[in-house]
Order: sequence, then structure tokens, then C-alpha cells
Amino acid sequence: MNQIYDVLVLGGGPAGYTAALYASRAGLQTLVVERLAAGGQMALTHQIDNYPGFEEGIDGFTLGTKMQQGAERFGAQTVYAEVAAVKLDEPVKEVHTDSGIFYGKTVVIATGANPRKLGLPMEQELTGRGVHYCAACDGMFYRGKTVVLVGGGNSAVADALVLSRVAKKVILVHRRDKLRASKIYEEPLHQAQNIEFRWNCEVSQLRHSQRFEGIVLRNRLTGEEESLSADGLFVSIGREPATELFQEILELDENGYLVAGESTATNLPGVFAVGDVRTKAVRQIVTATADGAVAAHQIEEYLAVTVA
Ligand code: NAP
Repeated sequence: MNQIYDVLVLGGGPAGYTAALYASRAGLQTLVVERLAAGGQMALTHQIDNYPGFEEGIDGFTLGTKMQQGAERFGAQTVYAEVAAVKLDEPVKEVHTDSGIFYGKTVVIATGANPRKLGLPMEQELTGRGVHYCAACDGMFYRGKTVVLVGGGNSAVADALVLSRVAKKVILVHRRDKLRASKIYEEPLHQAQNIEFRWNCEVSQLRHSQRFEGIVLRNRLTGEEESLSADGLFVSIGREPATELFQEILELDENGYLVAGESTATNLPGVFAVGDVRTKAVRQIVTATADGAVAAHQIEEYLAVTVA
């Protein structure tokens, strides 16, 4: 007979490992199914200063590993596997992976959100070879160089400021004539001498040989195209929740996030959504970990009244 876990956690980021910590500490048999490595998106951040308790800050990879170890200390297990399909509507839920099928009385979805791509030819092949999605992680490779940054939201502007401290020049490309970012960024943006704005523009092509060499910029109002040379391209145009597996199964909001309130309960009994994949106002590590704790508490209550 296959083991039926009390809790299957999908995703080993801060939300997932906090759910695993609380659940295993409460004596529940808990398995985390993670594709690559602990930490999720956080693991790509080289300096985290807004997670309390680390007065010097901490890098995301180390914090992710610590969260995993903290949960495993109480018996939570991790399997590294890619989830292919889920069955969530029965009392015993199934998670089908490339390492076999796992069974659980409850499922915590902590699959997070990934950077949105431009969707251009060769974008994937050039990723890491001149095309990047995390200025804080990869900006340091562009000291004294010219980089293009795409986006107009808070992340894009924060990234532009990070890059402007390292690069010789930052060319900010935005598809409209106005930033979406908060007013608070206006002054630092104008103080930075090396940020050049290209309004109403989009990247229509990536120029490359073996690695990225520049872009073709298209003016959305006039249709005119211009070739720009650059050493790197940073894409900061928002994020997309990792919810493909749940499209027909769980309720999603208009942006594709899993609908779940502060209780983290989804529309299916025994299925919970935590962290960046859930509908919420603030997506931060602290709010992700808070979700994990809430989900584990809800699970204890659910299991107390459910016989699987
Ligand atoms: P966002 O607010 O959704 O902004 C995405 C930006 O990318 C927008 O300017 C959008 O243009 C542009 N964009 C979207 N798709 C595009 C495409 N296919 N091609 C070109 N441009 C495209 O995302 P975000 O900046 O990642 O922020 C996410 C959330 O985190 C927001 O709620 C944000 O406020 C928050 N955040 C806050 C802070 C802070 O307060 N310090 C820092 C970072 C993030 P349009 O403007 O034309 O739609």
C-alpha cells in the first residue's frame, strides 16, 4: 500500500517550507515536492534585507536552505520531482510526478510565480547570456556597461536604480508614456544621471550572435524601428503565477492567481494555496511565510474533522 501523507506541499519556497515546518512540528507526515532547489524565486536574490531577524541581511539561497533544514528538523521530507498532474477532488489527493505518484490527505500549493517573458524569438536561448530577469542577482555582471531595462512598474524602476549604480548607462524602455511605478521613485530616478528613457517603445527583436548584442526598438506610435547595441537586457514586466496545473481544477482570478482568502483555503476541501501563487495584495517573503503558518493551522482543523 502506498503511503498517504497528511500533507503534500507543492513547491519549496518560503511559503511551502513554512507550511512544512508548522505541519511537521504539529506531528503531521509532510512531504515537500520541489522541482529544483529550496527557496523558489527567493533563492535568486543575492541580498534580502526585509526578512526580519538578519541584521546584516541574508542571501536568498542560504535563507531557502535554512528554511528547508528547519522543516526537516521536525521530520518533513523533500522529494525533487516535476509535477505533471494533480487529482484534488477526492479525500485522498494524488500528485503525479516524474518520480512517481504521491498521495496526501491535504495539499498545499506553494508553486509561486515566475518572471513574465517578452515572448521574443531566442529569448529563452539567450537567458543568462545577456538576457536576465533579476537585476539584483545579475546586475553586477554589467559594471561599466550599457544595459536595456524593459518595464514601467515598481519592480522595473527599482531595478533601473540598482542597475544605474553599476552600469555606465541604463536605457529604460516602456510601452507607454508614463510609468506605473509609485511617485516615491520619481526623485531618485531623476537624480540618477545615467538612465535614459524610451517612451512608447517596445523591443521587437533581440540581436545576437552566440550571446545577446542589442535590440531592435519599435516605437508603438510611429512604427519606426531603431537598432540599439547593448551588453545586457533586463526584463522586469511583472510575474505570472505557476498555476498551469490547476487551470481546470481550482478557481483562478483574472490574472491567473489561485483564489484563496486569508485562510488560504481554495474552493476544494483539503486544498490550500500559499505565498505568491495566491490572490493577495502584498507578495513578500514575510507574507508568504505567514500563509504557510496559516495553512498548517487550517490543515490541523481540517484533519481533525475529516476521515480520509
Ligand atoms: P507590475 O506592477 O504589474 O508592472 C509591470 C510593468 O511591465 C508595467 O509597467 C507594464 O506596462 C509592463 N508590461 C507588462 N507586460 C508587458 C509586456 N508584455 N511588454 C512590455 N511591458 C510590459 O509588476 P511589478 O513591477 O513586477 O510589480 C508587481 C507588484 O509588486 C506590484 O504590485 C508592485 O507595486 C509591487 N512592488 C512594489 C515595490 C515597492 O513598492 N517598492 C517594488 C517592486 C514591486 P503597463 O504599465 O503599460 O501596464
